Amino acid sequence: MAKMVKCLVCGAVFEEGAEVCPVCGVGPENFEPVEVEESGFSKDTDEKFVILGGGPAAKAAAEAIRERNKEAVVTIITMEDELPYNRPMLTKALLADHSGDALAIEAADWYEKNRIFMMKGARAIAIDTDAKSVALELADGSHGATVYDKLIYALGAYCFVAPIKGSELEHVMTVRNISDTVRIREIVKDRDAKNVVCIGGGVMGLEGASTMRDEGFNVTVLETSPFLLPRQLDNEASTMLRELAESKGVNTITNAKIKEITGDAVLLEDGTSCPAELVLMSTGMRPYTQLAEEAGIAVDRWVSVDDHMRTSAGSVYAAGDCCAVDGQPQAFWAQAEATGRVAGANAAGDDVAYEKIGSALVMHAFGTAVFALGTNGKSQDGSSDPKYRLESSKDDKAGNYAARYYDEDKLVGGILVGDLSAMPELTKSIEF
Ligand SMILES: Cc1cc2nc3c(=O)[nH]c(=O)nc-3n(C[C@H](O)[C@H](O)[C@H](O)COP(=O)(O)OP(=O)(O)OC[C@H]3O[C@@H](n4cnc5c(N)ncnc54)[C@H](O)[C@@H]3O)c2cc1C
Repeated sequence: MAKMVKCLVCGAVFEEGAEVCPVCGVGPENFEPVEVEESGFSKDTDEKFVILGGGPAAKAAAEAIRERNKEAVVTIITMEDELPYNRPMLTKALLADHSGDALAIEAADWYEKNRIFMMKGARAIAIDTDAKSVALELADGSHGATVYDKLIYALGAYCFVAPIKGSELEHVMTVRNISDTVRIREIVKDRDAKNVVCIGGGVMGLEGASTMRDEGFNVTVLETSPFLLPRQLDNEASTMLRELAESKGVNTITNAKIKEITGDAVLLEDGTSCPAELVLMSTGMRPYTQLAEEAGIAVDRWVSVDDHMRTSAGSVYAAGDCCAVDGQPQAFWAQAEATGRVAGANAAGDDVAYEKIGSALVMHAFGTAVFALGTNGKSQDGSSDPKYRLESSKDDKAGNYAARYYDEDKLVGGILVGDLSAMPELTKSIEF
């Protein structure tokens, strides 16, 4: 087996030799060799394992099953026309051509070698847990069905579209799938776009804004709260990031009250008009739970699973962005892979408990890098929480900021802007 390393920042596990982490983009100084434990469990059966969804959770589940069962039929069903791919790259390379499996986690021959059947362009439309079957809508519009002995529900999440007047217009896009980036490239070309408005000052909105600015567009970011990345950064770091964005020519408007999106602008309630031939909306994700709910599987905003990734329905497991483990959502790449591995292992008859993993924010944008893990020292309402003690340093000239938040003597949060050299140490020492 190839030697594997783990990214200490985002938790992704991948083959040794990569120049950057394929998920969060940090360099090899943040990689640590890991022993990928062989489970030792083996049970060859002629069971049918059906995995719904074609993301990292699905791929990891399929791999975990095949490691334990050499005979079973393993099928991944995805409505995308792609092999499971590196989704985080989409906002980092928004206008790139991602065709030809350029972002695929594994090439097609990996699936062939492992006898994992990829059913692309097929949408699951209903699950019958009594009959153990899944109804499908195929790429050509026809309908079909498949039966399973064990089902893994790994449908991921979709972008929430804020209910703003005009959000249904064709030049208003969200970014979740490769097909979204294809459409964005078409819009840019067809509309000879020069102006882009990014609604939402979270990670994906800012990554998208930075990428589009680097491509030469006039970019405006609209954020409804008073600060960029308000949930991850403290006010000092947010302000610094905003200044850096502005210095790169990105217009940032916080406390934005959006009135309407028109064919060529986004209008604010104070009368400001932000020109836009393309609008990128990054206003949050929602888990795909509808199919589970309709099948009578327990859902509490996310598909509910225990630490073995078991849902409330017998023989049905769930993993990735769509699920919450003991009530806690798992919305990062490394968590999708880890929950997928656990779901696959247990579906195959093994007994593996999920050990929760945290995941850090790492963002490269506006010529700087940002890291945040744990608390940002704020309470729910966004004000600074006196419970936390802050130790911070700032070097305006170098564009560096470092903050450590303590709860009594326990390090519970860290934020870095610019110089990320303390990242591995922070990742190891922050306690949750
Ligand atoms: C632009 C972007 C940037 C990101 N950046 C980062 C980052 O820097 N770091 C990080 O840790 N995470 C990042 N993430 C989050 C990360 O990509 C997700 O946590 C991860 O992809 C979740 O994996 P998953 O397998 O649960 O779901 P997904 O990757 O969403 O895969 C689910 C698949 O199921 C398919 N599907 C849905 N419904 C059906 C159906 N009815 N029938 C058939 N197929 C269906 C979907 O089309 C999709 O292909 C980013 C996400 C996006 C969108």
